[in-house]
Amino acid sequence: MIKALSSPIRLSAVNCHIFPNFSLANQTSYRVGGEAQWYVAPRTWEALQATFEWFQKQDIPLMLLGAGSNLLISDHGIDGLVLSTRYLRYRNFDPETGCVTVAAGDPVAKIAWQAARRGWRGLEWAVGIPGTVGGAVVMNAGAHRQCAADCLVSAVVVSPDGIVETLTSKDLNYSYRTSSLQGAKKLVLEATFQLEMGFSRQEVMATTQHNLQQRKSSQPYDKPSCGSVFRNPTSHAAGWLIEQLGLKGYRIGNAEISHRHANFILNCGQAKAQDIFRLIYHAQEQVEARWSLLLEPEVKILGEFSAS
Ligand SMILES: Cc1cc2nc3c(=O)[nH]c(=O)nc-3n(C[C@H](O)[C@H](O)[C@H](O)COP(=O)(O)OP(=O)(O)OC[C@H]3O[C@@H](n4cnc5c(N)ncnc54)[C@H](O)[C@@H]3O)c2cc1C
Repeated sequence: MIKALSSPIRLSAVNCHIFPNFSLANQTSYRVGGEAQWYVAPRTWEALQATFEWFQKQDIPLMLLGAGSNLLISDHGIDGLVLSTRYLRYRNFDPETGCVTVAAGDPVAKIAWQAARRGWRGLEWAVGIPGTVGGAVVMNAGAHRQCAADCLVSAVVVSPDGIVETLTSKDLNYSYRTSSLQGAKKLVLEATFQLEMGFSRQEVMATTQHNLQQRKSSQPYDKPSCGSVFRNPTSHAAGWLIEQLGLKGYRIGNAEISHRHANFILNCGQAKAQDIFRLIYHAQEQVEARWSLLLEPEVKILGEFSAS
């Protein structure tokens, strides 16, 4: 990674700092990764605009970050500006329409609970997902046979040149864990979801609680991870394929294929991003050798890695 040889940039009019050489390990659920050459987490639209004005004058790449719960960032870090939307937060539940409009940084699980408390259905699936609304829109996050695409009406996005657009669910070209926003360099500012009103609070809370319990009993939440590492191929679940190879518990360094769920790779303490990467590569190689099937990572792998 190129080191930024300076002190923080202060965007004083909007009370926002752009930090040089900022450690990203605490910004991801894996708790691994090197530094961002520059890092910023604006809290307001004005701070975001000022950040983009600064960015436009630099000749550096841009990487967008939500809660970092689906990212594997290289130990060597990331060149350019890493911009996190995790502190952009507001929400509005409209009782006339049943729509909820939420800023990108709001945790999607929190919105699921708030909807459940109102007796509004549609987001119960999101309760165990530790990411932001922005990340859920981009990833088409899903669980319990439902996903963001099922209730998303539109997303407001902005490009670094300041152009704001409202994209409909159709524009986002959704399919399984993917959208047209992946790699598009358009920042999701807010999203609107259509929910169903008029159910009893107890009923929706019960489904939401049930979903959370089910996940906690089948998935390892006690160690850092990114959730499912691989997309499920159409034939079999990725975890089942890995499990058949006896890879549960297989370790490289301090990264381990979970005993509980073989599609999870855990950081068992001080693992390197490179350990996790090699484990991903190993599982891919083994599955391909046995079933001639290339598992495709769901986790976004960013920065430099080596397969050896
Ligand atoms: C324990 C655990 C369980 C999980 N379970 C599930 C599950 O059941 N289902 C599921 O789908 N996922 C699951 N995940 C993965 C992850 O939580 C989701 O993919 C989530 O939607 C990612 O959101 P995030 O805010 O963390 O995004 P990040 O990981 O920060 O980013 C993911 C991608 O979205 C982009 N992005 C993020 N925010 C924005 C924005 N505002 N504008 C533009 N681009 C943006 C990033 O550039 C990146 O490409 C799990 C993860 C963990 C750790």
